[in-house]
Amino acid sequence: MPSEPLAILRQVYGYRAFRPGQAAVIDAVLAGQDCLVLMPTGGGKSLCYQIPAQALPGVGVVVSPLIALMQDQVAALRQAGVRAAFLNSTVPWREQQAIKRELAAEGLDLLYLAPERLLQEETLALLAAVRLALFAVDEAHCVSQWGHDFRQDYLGLDVLGERFPSVPRLALTATADDRTRQEIVARLALRRPARFVSGFDRPNIRYAVQIKTRNANEQLARFLDAHRGQAGIVYCLSRRKTEAVAERLRQAGYRALAYHAGLPAAQRADAQARFLREEGVVIVATVAFGLGIDKPDVRFVAHVDLPKSVEAYYQETGRAGRDGAPAQAWMIYGLQDVVRLRQMVDESVADEQHKRIERSKLDALLGWCEITTCRRQALLRYFGDDLPGPCGNCDICLTPPRTWDGTVAAQKLLSCIVRTGSRFGAAHVIDVLRGQQTDKVRQHRHAGLSTFGIGADLSVAEWRSVLRQLVAGGFVDADAARFGALRLTAAARPLLRSETILTLRQEAAPAKPRRAAAERRQRPDGEAAAADEPLWQALRACRLQLAEDAAVPPYVVFHDATLREFARLRPASLDAMLQVHGVGQAKLERYGKAFLEVLTEHARS
Ligand code: ADP
Ligand code: ZN
Repeated sequence: MPSEPLAILRQVYGYRAFRPGQAAVIDAVLAGQDCLVLMPTGGGKSLCYQIPAQALPGVGVVVSPLIALMQDQVAALRQAGVRAAFLNSTVPWREQQAIKRELAAEGLDLLYLAPERLLQEETLALLAAVRLALFAVDEAHCVSQWGHDFRQDYLGLDVLGERFPSVPRLALTATADDRTRQEIVARLALRRPARFVSGFDRPNIRYAVQIKTRNANEQLARFLDAHRGQAGIVYCLSRRKTEAVAERLRQAGYRALAYHAGLPAAQRADAQARFLREEGVVIVATVAFGLGIDKPDVRFVAHVDLPKSVEAYYQETGRAGRDGAPAQAWMIYGLQDVVRLRQMVDESVADEQHKRIERSKLDALLGWCEITTCRRQALLRYFGDDLPGPCGNCDICLTPPRTWDGTVAAQKLLSCIVRTGSRFGAAHVIDVLRGQQTDKVRQHRHAGLSTFGIGADLSVAEWRSVLRQLVAGGFVDADAARFGALRLTAAARPLLRSETILTLRQEAAPAKPRRAAAERRQRPDGEAAAADEPLWQALRACRLQLAEDAAVPPYVVFHDATLREFARLRPASLDAMLQVHGVGQAKLERYGKAFLEVLTEHARS
């Protein structure tokens, strides 16, 4: 076994170079320093502790909140020839004894533990008796009582510093905000940690937001059509909806499974296992799904309801495309979503300060939905990152929205809200604007108002668009407590007095076929498929077989990227294969021959 980080990277993992940030973290750990590591999902955090654990004498102890995650990481490490194991309640007693013996004999490089297991006196005593390379606390933001991933057991982890003062500790997370960082350092009692903050950009994820139409199901169907056979997540707000959407997708021929906290544990575990192990599974889930889902080839994350904040949105969409291949973050939203989320905040038991924070977070997301400039730039700015130019890989960059001077339209709408007494929701206010003789209009005698019929020149959809942008811009409030009754905010005054002008975006026409074609072209397997579909399918079949034999997910054998390289470069020998991205020594020995056979067969035919 090599002990130089770069040699380990090449020989064990088959990667050529470190990603930005990795080498510096590894050096700091090797120098014995505590570290706080912030890297986006998919940035490559695991190598930051796995490699030093192999380079240093003794075992690296990894604290991780989710059992499924541990199993997969350990399976992947073993495939790569690393001496790794995990201890948790799912491991049979006999096997636990064997692992403890291995640990005592210093036969392990990496040991994964759930926090509650680590904190048991027996485990601590076990660790005190062996040489330790490091402690790595993964998903370190779980110490934060403000976050939605809070884990009580994480609060006890400061004991590591007391019991093992000379062992370096790393805290790793993808959560960006400043308060959480401070909380991590404080609660884990890190000693003057070296801080590593990588850029948060995920350039391979394409962001797109559309307005929810009356037929949201059809919108989702159209989006998914370009992604048949790919793995993805569809997020919904309610449990009931996840089940309904999953059922509809199954009828449309997708391998779709619902996932939410109300399902029996066994059913949830099954859905998660199928998502990891089978290909092309779509999980339709509430936010309960995701933490620690370490699947690299998730090709899309779709939101059919609005998340609660930009942070939640970024974390959820971040589960797409960890392998670096093109992935889609697609969302539809409407004003109704905003009203519902506001209502949930209002009705929650949180104190007033908490509610205020949540409302402003929702507003920030809403503003982001309605922007007319590059979405990625805005997202990164929100996290304090700076992208010098527009990204070229979001819906705004790809199809810039047209804008128009909406000042007069906005004034009409604002006046109409006031004239009707700030008591009505969007539907009625728009009816009045458009001069519709509805029952409600007759009942309230609104046909006599000065604003009745002054907006006949715009369609209902256009008025909804104006209204949504006024809400997103903070000019109008939709009062959730009163069924979405609209009222003006203080910011509306200058607009009514024509002291500011308002630029609005023109709603894009429904997606054209051209778009679908462009998305198809972006399919990660598109290139290989076009070049040599039979070879590509044969490589995938070979991988699936090997994965089943080894009882691991297919991507643990090789990533799509590696298979694509096989198809493109067609290595003719084991040596040539070793040059391919993702092929390390152990995997070459284990799988090289099988894939070489597939390649030779296809070279002849
Ligand atoms: P994170 O934990 O930060 O979400 P991972 O550690 O799971 O990310 O890494 C994401 C993916 O990137 C993994 O499939 C990993 O094998 C791959 N990866 C990590 N570092 C490198 C590297 N230096 N070169 C190529 N691929 C890498
Ligand atoms: Zn962009």
